[in-house]
Amino acid sequence: MSHYQDALEATEAHLRALQANGVRFLNVQADTLLALQQPVPEQPDLVALENAVAVESVPALNLNPNPTVTAEKQAAPEPVTARQSLALPGLVAAEKQAAPEPVAARQVGTLPKLSAAERQAAMAALRERATACVKCPHLARSRRTVVFGTGDIHARLMFVGEAPGADEDARGEPFVGAAGQLLTRIIKAMGFSRETVYIANILKCRPDTPGQSYGNRKPTPEEMRTCLLWLLEQIDLVRPEVMVALGATAVEGLLGKGEGISKLRGRFQTFHGVPVMPTFHPSYLLRNQAVTEKRKVWEDMMQVLEKLGAPISEKQRGFFLKA
Ligand code: URA
Repeated sequence: MSHYQDALEATEAHLRALQANGVRFLNVQADTLLALQQPVPEQPDLVALENAVAVESVPALNLNPNPTVTAEKQAAPEPVTARQSLALPGLVAAEKQAAPEPVAARQVGTLPKLSAAERQAAMAALRERATACVKCPHLARSRRTVVFGTGDIHARLMFVGEAPGADEDARGEPFVGAAGQLLTRIIKAMGFSRETVYIANILKCRPDTPGQSYGNRKPTPEEMRTCLLWLLEQIDLVRPEVMVALGATAVEGLLGKGEGISKLRGRFQTFHGVPVMPTFHPSYLLRNQAVTEKRKVWEDMMQVLEKLGAPISEKQRGFFLKA
């Protein structure tokens, strides 16, 4: 066996050992990556190849010295120019195995009953894990913050939006921009406050818009599927009695239903046993100021109040009835 083959096999064995220890991503310098993509010469210059393998591959891979540290932590983002994430074929397979289970296969409501303090601690731990998430490397690179969620972790009512925008990405809190301010007014009109409900998004990172310095984009189905696992854990901890899905994308991400928010709104759906009211996204109401549209959202919110057994005053019943 040639030195080249020896070195190759040793490198592969090393990588497989890392894989067995849960490492899923390796950081490789861009020029090393390019070199690795070159065809192997038929008559390898053994000295050059040995140097390449022994000197470049292992140290330049910048592997975590502590293989027990999770891949999530290890793969913390750095500027793309300096490092590139290399998913080797075998490692890609490992990543695929760890890909999110279909949401339907996961059960919400199977957690044992937790004390208030235990719930608080579990949510803090979940926030910490989600904040270090790099499952979508492109989003991990472009985000400023992970927008986890806000509000009362014992809330009876939970609002679920689509994804953070620029304001939320900057502040690390969902629904703080213009649409968020409108949502806050809706919550107040219902007789609650932001602090007494729980608010989160399907996607915890702002969707990147490469080559654009402004604007938003809809999360991809893959991004939503991946991120939904965090939301499931949040729902499991909060155990809301009712949820509100804000806008078509939140409905699609949560319920997998793409038939349009106009058709779905106003009719309770169910997510893991929790009643979900689909309604228009507040940003739609900002674009379309018609009182009829505001009234539709308000009627949806009154259904939510009824489901919660909350009182509805005559004044509340009359909101947005007059043009
Ligand atoms: N729109 C959303 O769906 N979520 C936010 O957090 C902000 C705007």
